[in-house]
Formats: sequence, C-alpha cells, structure tokens
Amino acid sequence: MKNKMATVIQQSLSALIEDEAFLPKLNGETRQRAYQSLVSILSTPNRVNKSFLRIPLESGRVVRIPAYRVQHNNTLGPYKGGIRFHESVNEDEVVNLAKLMTLKNALHDVPFGGGKGGVIINPREYSEKELNLICKKYVHYFSDSLGTEKDIPAPDIGTGEREMDWMMAEFKSIHPGETYRGSFTGKSVMNGGSLGRREATGKGVYYSYRYLLHDFVEDNKNLLENNSDNRFVQTTLNHQDQSLSIAVQGFGNVGSVAALDAYQCVHLQNKVVAVSDHNVTLYNSDGLDIPALIQYGKEHEGDLPTEEIELKQHSIKAIIMDRDDLLELDVDVLFLAALEDQIHTANCQSIKASIIVEGANAPITQEADTYLSKNGVLIIPDILANAGGVIVSYLEWMQGRETQFYKEEEVFDLLFHKMKNTFDAVLPQFFSDSFALRQNCYIHSVMKLSTILYRQGKLY
Ligand code: GLU
Repeated sequence: MKNKMATVIQQSLSALIEDEAFLPKLNGETRQRAYQSLVSILSTPNRVNKSFLRIPLESGRVVRIPAYRVQHNNTLGPYKGGIRFHESVNEDEVVNLAKLMTLKNALHDVPFGGGKGGVIINPREYSEKELNLICKKYVHYFSDSLGTEKDIPAPDIGTGEREMDWMMAEFKSIHPGETYRGSFTGKSVMNGGSLGRREATGKGVYYSYRYLLHDFVEDNKNLLENNSDNRFVQTTLNHQDQSLSIAVQGFGNVGSVAALDAYQCVHLQNKVVAVSDHNVTLYNSDGLDIPALIQYGKEHEGDLPTEEIELKQHSIKAIIMDRDDLLELDVDVLFLAALEDQIHTANCQSIKASIIVEGANAPITQEADTYLSKNGVLIIPDILANAGGVIVSYLEWMQGRETQFYKEEEVFDLLFHKMKNTFDAVLPQFFSDSFALRQNCYIHSVMKLSTILYRQGKLY
C-alpha cells in the first residue's frame, strides 16, 4: 500500500507539472520550486503521534497497547479521519491512510484535512469494559491535539458508534466548557450523531457504481462515443443495459449496505451472487437473499453462516466456499469492502470481473492495479467511491454546531449530490485520456490543494 500511494502521487504530480492549469501564473524555476514544495508537503505527514496505552485487564494483567494518531495535512480544514482497531495496524499504514484522507477530502470538496488513528488490538479479544478503557485512554493520551477545530476522529475498521460515544464523553470531561459535539463523528444519533451516518459509506459505494455505469453513461452518450477507443469506455459500454452479477468482499458496515442497495435496485437488474466475510464465501448464481443474510448477521455478531444446517434453518439458498474464493469468481463486478491489499500479484491474473469498486481503502496493490488497469478493468478508486462516510461526517459536524438535525432522506440527498458533483468533475477528463480513474482523482485533489497552498503563500 505504501508503495502504491507514493507511486500514484508521484505519477499524478509528474502529470501536473506538464499541465498548464497547474499554478498558471508561475513559470521556469519558480514553478519547479513550487512543485518541489508541493511534493514534500504531500509526501510527509505534519505530525505522527504515538503512545502506549497502559490498560489493566480484567484478569489483573497490565498491557501496554501501541496507539497512533497521524495528522497528515490540514490545508483544507481540521484533520479528519477514522480510528482503526485492528491487529495489523502499524505506523506506515496509519500514515498512508491519513494521506488518503487528505486526498479524499480534497477530491470531494469536504473542508477537512487528512488524519487517521490506529490501535494495535483485535477488539474481539477484549471485554466491553476493557474496550471502554482503551477508548478513554486513547483520548486522554492524544487529547491536546484533538478537538472540533483541530482533529476530528470517526469510526473505521473495528470501531463504531459505541466507541465514538465513549471517546466524545471522555473528550468532554477533559475539556469542560469547550464545544464537544463536533469533536468526534460517527456517534450514535442519541449522542448527536447524524441519521444515515452508519450506512453512508456503503450507500456511497453503491451510488458510485450506479452513477458511473448508469446515470452518467445515459447522460453522456456523446462523450463516450467520441472516445470509443479508450479501454475504459469500452468496458463501460460493454456493460451497459445488461444484468450484471456482483460479488461483495466484506459483509460489515460497508459491504452489507452496498449489497443491500444493489439487491434492492431492481431496475438495474443487479444480481448479488456472492458475499464473503472473514470466515466464508456464500454463492448463489441466481442471486443471494441479502436481507436474510443481514438478519442472520444481526443475530450472530455480524458473521455470515458457515454451515449447511444454519443455511437451512434460515431458508437461505447458497453454496459455501472458502473465504478467498470470492475474488476469483466469474462475475462482472467486485465490490471490495474488507481490508487493504486483497488483490495482489499472486491473484490479480485470476480476477474475472471487469468492474471493481473500492469500498475499503487501498484494497488493490500497486502491481495488481497496474495489471488490471492495463487490461481494461474499470476500477472506481477508494477516494472516489468510499467517501460517503466522511461526507456524512461533515454533515454531522455541521449539525452538531447548529444543533439542528436533518432527516435521513435529506442526508442521503446531500450525500449523493456531493458525490455526483465530484463524478461530474472527474469523469469527462477520465474518459478522454488514458489515465486510470485513480490517477485522475489524485490529479484533481492535488490540483486543488496546490492552488490553495499557493494562495496561502506556502509554495515557495
Ligand atoms: N474511516 C472512514 C474513511 O476512511 C471515515 C472517516 C471520517 O468520517 O472521518 O473514510
């Protein structure tokens, strides 16, 4: 993941220096110098906060758990990004995820910078009381750098409303008198969270697929016809007005919501034929009963059924396969909503899907990304497709300030409107040149950041 981001940023920056729209008032040496400052600003985080959380466990043992909060860039506003609780968390990963947040927010015109947090634990191994303590200690250790106008965490893998509620409460008791509702987003609605925040990322993932493959194509026939030799245009046109089969990797907060939207969107004749989680893949060529699987998950700590008998008991028709089999199934579309680096050199040649939507952050390695894009696979990249979470976090932050709350339909309308604006800004360029969509998105983000940095007198 580290290499990919560095390479794509580098490629996008190289494209930028050739582009006349990049800092148009500058030329010659001044332009080169501005370019170099931009490279160094974007490649290094402003701050890496690291600490060891000292946690007395219920068993009496005391552990010291590594925790991070990385603040990458705050050109556009307060640092913003989730806190991940996962065993695979490490400093490089958190830095790269924070960088992605900077680019994601810039791309969608969300007035936040990029940040990310991480704690190296498997939350399933801790009791509720211990997790509560971990959350409190996290806020306690990093409390000086957090706050409504400084750095606003949110949920990520392994965290959710419960953790954000705990953290906000701790922030409030450390900083009495300060505004606290906007210090964390992704809170429960009762604690000032926004309706629709929980579903926002998954909704946005499905929306981006639907918009690109349907609405945009319908409205831009000329653009596509005029660029019919572009390999991505060919992929798009080949899939127009067809019944597409979809496989969803990850059935958590993002994957299950995207799968449900795909299942319910009957006018597109989608068929969700496979879903997977950390244990298993379930497959049915006629389409899976997604609402039944979601209901099963609610009763079983979010897991999918792994035994024939459980499928029978819940009247779910599916074939049980190995977890990783999902990626290589003969389907049209893959929604990747699990972890990073899922498609890599060893499995990229076996991918049969021609459209991939990145619900997770960085689920495809650099080498695999190059291979797939060269072969005409249309990848809707993470910063474009999975921004629903942070967009609705922004709405939550605003609602907290105004103590006025939107209805759920209003939240989704605002979300889709924002994503549509981004798509309309990026897609014409994408379909008329040979860059992959990811690079086009990075170029858009970096262009925006560079213009603002220049106007602030920071690019010398
Ligand atoms: N963790 C989510 C992401 O990666 C949401 C971040 C937020 O809402 O701040 O985009």
